[in-house]
Amino acid sequence: SGDKMNQLKLITNSGEETENLGYRLGKHLFSGAVLTLEGDLGAGKTTFTKGIAKSLHINQIVKSPTFTIIKEYNGDLPLYHMDVYRLDDMYEDLGFDDYFYSDGVTVVEWAKRIKEQLPKNYLEINVFNLSETKREVVLIPHGEQYVKLCEVLHDE
Ligand code: ADP
Ligand code: MG
Repeated sequence: SGDKMNQLKLITNSGEETENLGYRLGKHLFSGAVLTLEGDLGAGKTTFTKGIAKSLHINQIVKSPTFTIIKEYNGDLPLYHMDVYRLDDMYEDLGFDDYFYSDGVTVVEWAKRIKEQLPKNYLEINVFNLSETKREVVLIPHGEQYVKLCEVLHDE
């Protein structure tokens, strides 16, 4: 069929819907998957990550790791949840590659701050505030695996 998907735009109308979207995406994640999350404070980046954690059967409460930068959770796959908002030097390397090229799933909030250190292939996720409760979630795949993932999400 037609052209490869270069982005997938979805609307959510509540935090719960955004969490469910994370859950739905999480069901298709694989070892070594890297996701970036961009969006204003309160957009729903951590809410989305909670859904991913649920899909990996992680029972711990996922909180924004702003002050710790990296939090690890154990589930069906390990989940590495990063929030690099507080990194003031975008070239500061906290050993990111050990996470990106691991057997786990890595989610990076505010990933633009470490743009130079991101792997070649990842799923870029941008969350836009349309109103108090409405968000647009835009998925942009970088690499073939993530194109497929977007197609599956679109078609299921
Ligand atoms: P971030 O990590 O981007 O700073 P959080 O996920 O911590 O944002 O917080 C998002 C807040 O917005 C939560 O309190 C959530 O309940 C609320 N909210 C309302 N509508 C939505 C929506 N459609 N999607 C995500 N969060 C929403
Ligand atoms: Mg957050």
